[in-house]
Amino acid sequence: MTVQVVLPLPVEQAYTYVVPDELAEAVHVGCRVLVPFGPRRLTGLVIDWGPAVETLDFKTRPLLDVLDETPAFTDEMLTLTRWIADYYVCGWGEVVKAALPAGTNIEDKQHLSRTTKQANGVLSGQARAVLDYLDTHGEATLSGIRQQLNAVPIALVRRLERDGLVSITRELVDAKVRVKTETHLRFAPAFRHRSAARDIQQQLRGHKQVAVVEAMAGLALEGTHEPRQADVLERAAAASPTVRTLVNKGILETVEKEVIRTPLGDLPDEPAPPPRVLHPAQQQALDALAKPIDAGKFETFLLHGVTGSGKTEVYIAALKRVLAQGKTGIILVPEIALTPQTVRRFRAHFGDRIAVLHSRMSLGERYDAWRHLRGGRYDVVIGPRSAVLAPLSNVGLVVVDEEHEPSYKQFDPAPRYHARDVAVMRAHHNKAVCVLGSATPSLESLANARRGKYTLLEMPDRVPVPGHTAAPLPPVRIVDLTLERKKHQLKGALSVQLQDAIRQRLEREEQVILLQNRRGYAPIVECQDCGWVPMCYDCSVTLTYHKAQRHLRCHYCGLAQRLPQACPKCNSQALKQLGEGTQRVEEELAQVFPDARVLRMDLDTTGKKDAHHRILSRFGKGKADILIGTQMVAKGLDFPRVTLVGIINADMGMRLPDFRAEERTFQLLTQVAGRAGRAELRGEVLLQTRTPDHPLFQFVVHHDYPRFANAALAERQQLDYPPFAHIVGVEFRGPKEPTVQDMAERWTKMLGEQVQGVMGVQILGPEPALIGRVKRQYRYHTILKARRGLEGPPMQQLLRATTAAFGSPPRHYRIAIDVDAIGLF
Ligand code: ADP
Ligand code: ZN
Ligand code: ZN
Repeated sequence: MTVQVVLPLPVEQAYTYVVPDELAEAVHVGCRVLVPFGPRRLTGLVIDWGPAVETLDFKTRPLLDVLDETPAFTDEMLTLTRWIADYYVCGWGEVVKAALPAGTNIEDKQHLSRTTKQANGVLSGQARAVLDYLDTHGEATLSGIRQQLNAVPIALVRRLERDGLVSITRELVDAKVRVKTETHLRFAPAFRHRSAARDIQQQLRGHKQVAVVEAMAGLALEGTHEPRQADVLERAAAASPTVRTLVNKGILETVEKEVIRTPLGDLPDEPAPPPRVLHPAQQQALDALAKPIDAGKFETFLLHGVTGSGKTEVYIAALKRVLAQGKTGIILVPEIALTPQTVRRFRAHFGDRIAVLHSRMSLGERYDAWRHLRGGRYDVVIGPRSAVLAPLSNVGLVVVDEEHEPSYKQFDPAPRYHARDVAVMRAHHNKAVCVLGSATPSLESLANARRGKYTLLEMPDRVPVPGHTAAPLPPVRIVDLTLERKKHQLKGALSVQLQDAIRQRLEREEQVILLQNRRGYAPIVECQDCGWVPMCYDCSVTLTYHKAQRHLRCHYCGLAQRLPQACPKCNSQALKQLGEGTQRVEEELAQVFPDARVLRMDLDTTGKKDAHHRILSRFGKGKADILIGTQMVAKGLDFPRVTLVGIINADMGMRLPDFRAEERTFQLLTQVAGRAGRAELRGEVLLQTRTPDHPLFQFVVHHDYPRFANAALAERQQLDYPPFAHIVGVEFRGPKEPTVQDMAERWTKMLGEQVQGVMGVQILGPEPALIGRVKRQYRYHTILKARRGLEGPPMQQLLRATTAAFGSPPRHYRIAIDVDAIGLF
């Protein structure tokens, strides 16, 4: 018997292993197995049975172990991950790795040590460095030494091993996470009955033992019959030896129980949600979803509902219907930390049936969530893009909230999948319903709805507030910054009109959200005399001034350096800080409104665990008047006292050389505008710009998504961009520019040879990326554009063939294929 195994490597193929007799019963398709691979041992996944042993050549090696009792992967997950690997042109094993909780792999660790042999002949500098390192440190792991010594080639270490100068031992390192258990106590069977109390008392010696038994009895009266040992000891003010004595006497027993690590321990419990009657538009949407749900049919819906139209309530109602059928649901949100209100609403409805996944969970928490999803203890999962790969069985509903968000696309590492498209595929495999919700649907999804691939549902009005008509979408007023500069000698970021509007809110004790999509203090520092601008050493970008630390920081690699006193080029003192980051706006607010309480939310204030949560809950409780931040403040927030949204500079982001720049800007502005006036209080939006006549702003002012979409689609069609074509971005990167360029040119030429004769495919590039260097790595791009209908197998074939013809890139260089790429620059 043999099996086919995929390994977490960027290769297409699966490997065949022989199943030894003693493992024959344990192995199933979908199980993880430990296998030998060259000199290493790796964790892989059995994807299928293999050919008969007799037909194999002698080199096929046996499996070492089977790691799962029940298969980690269902057939459905095997099919789904296979589809992802094919569509996104990466290794199946890479997708499998993304779908399994981190830290559960068993792998080799390689230890290096010095032998007694002395080097004869001349050694290279790097080889010398390795030996010196081992002489001083005695021993090192291969990955450790490569980190210390600037990525010395593995080949060099192997040569040293062959030459007998170092020895390498391989040690199997166990999974980093395992099931966590805790000791609980209970009375031994003979002492469980009330009448046994006297028997027990006679056997107790000393007040500690009495205290423990009394604590147990007390807890039992409160309904806890198998309390945690820790709780008993605390209540009895005793220590574990006392328990051990009681166990030895046969009075108590210990039981190991699994502890489920959940990251929600610190969040307050939710009050039960108020009963809600769906308003007519919501009911209509739900009725439409209910049909395929009840019939067990696959269908994808695009739920286009303005901000505050009650989409979340529709998801919840649909999910209840699915759970009632005994099926499960997946809810995707762009980022858990930024959508605490949405998560809380789901938790309030589904309690402990719902697993929340987020990026700040520990390995143990992830492992537990994964296992209990697989085991069926949870039947709903809510999380960011990776939640689409959660191991639920029998999925009935997949929701993608804010489906237009770019964070649904993964870039690094592979698989470079788009969770929205995987969601549709997953629903398809499960005969389930997929709901893509947004106030500003992506043009891709809109086009799919217009083509009839998705069913369009619209909720054009906000939820009516009891006793009122529906809260209208807030009026948007444009403030012309150029005019302000002339008329009012505007110096800072806040126009007179915006200041007046803020002042009114402060007087009425209402709240304000300000968007400035640039963090730090001054995005650019410039010498007024010679024009020198500080740049990062390792990336081709300018540095941003951060005033609190008085330093310049690179927003790509994090490098920080002091702000020089004088221009290093011409020695002039006239270093001017240009532009307004969030910190600078915050400072200006403090000057203009010294009594206002201001909170700032950007990457710099949200580094710590729970920081988002704390900022948002303070704002929600009315402990601040103004919330200023980057795009983080634009998403999903629902605060009834916010009546003013100010956009400090709406032009930012629009000029990026990305064909999606205007779409992103429209989405961002519409989303942030949607935070204003969501309840009884009327809202207003002020949009500051230097290009007030730009047509995009007219669409924002009129909340006119359809006209925006039509204009944008017409342009895309003319230029042959998505959704009318598919694009694949290919990124080449590495430490030396000529090598990167050469690699890019050769690869692109080979692609050209493959493409010859295929109609409807166009190759652009290679060209240096807009940000040509990041973290000391040079970057080049090639873009492949293919007519609709060529995505999938035809395009995969071209890319696979090119990759095969090219072979592997040189060490330290890499080629990343990004199917349906977004944000290429
Ligand atoms: P969206 O997700 O479309 O932005 P929400 O679902 O957050 O909209 O709804 C906006 C607000 O209206 C929320 O405060 C929500 O609690 C409330 N809401 C939604 N549906 C109803 C309803 N049927 N009855 C009463 N309030 C509702
Ligand atoms: Zn200068
Ligand atoms: Zn940098």
